[in-house]
Amino acid sequence: MSKVAENLKTVLADLPSGVRLVAVSKFHPVEMLREAYDAGQRIFGESHVQELQQKVEQMPKDVEWHFIGHLQTNKVKYIAPYISLIHAVDSVKLLREINKQAERYGRVIDVLLELHIAEEETKYGFSPEECRQFLTGGEWKELSHVRIRGLMMMATYTDDQAQIRGEMQVAANLFDEMKQTCFADEPSFSERSWGMSHDYRIAIETGATLVRVGTTIFGERQY
Ligand SMILES: *Cc1c(COP(=O)(O)O)cnc(C)c1O
Repeated sequence: MSKVAENLKTVLADLPSGVRLVAVSKFHPVEMLREAYDAGQRIFGESHVQELQQKVEQMPKDVEWHFIGHLQTNKVKYIAPYISLIHAVDSVKLLREINKQAERYGRVIDVLLELHIAEEETKYGFSPEECRQFLTGGEWKELSHVRIRGLMMMATYTDDQAQIRGEMQVAANLFDEMKQTCFADEPSFSERSWGMSHDYRIAIETGATLVRVGTTIFGERQY
């Protein structure tokens, strides 16, 4: 078995049913993605549009591509024809652009709203209060070519497990609140995307349904 296949198996063994793995393959060569594919993995996460485009051409058609990085509005058009899920929608402007491009291609694109809960300045996303206001405001209901499937976040990069758990719990609580107040009749609002290589076990404990794992499967990235 290849190293990638072995690592994949180890991670999958940690995931309870109902938690799906996004294999984060950014900066890794397509050969490694193929090893994961041959071992049965179908969901891959990328965070750069150009790199994603190249990999899409080289990989089998039944791969489910997730865009997990910060997405610039002017690049939405390139991925709109095929992307399965956009994880990190961090502004209303971006959501509107995804809606517009999805309409052009006759699609409804699944998205997650990214929350900014971590301490780091650099992380994008809606604060819990901004997210609450946007969803209760209801404008999104008019955007008929996007479907908000849930919430996404990245915890602070730290060894402090209690802090990571606390941040993920804030996201989990907000998900529950939004589910009740805005999506009670929408079973499709069901996804909680948090957890990376170093914290996906905590993510599972705090209700993640999608974990985004790169390094543990593919090794260190070569930038
Ligand atoms: C790169 C990346 C990951 C994967 O990180 P690892 O530590 O390699 O598992 C997960 N989520 C996002 C948004 C990323 O950019």
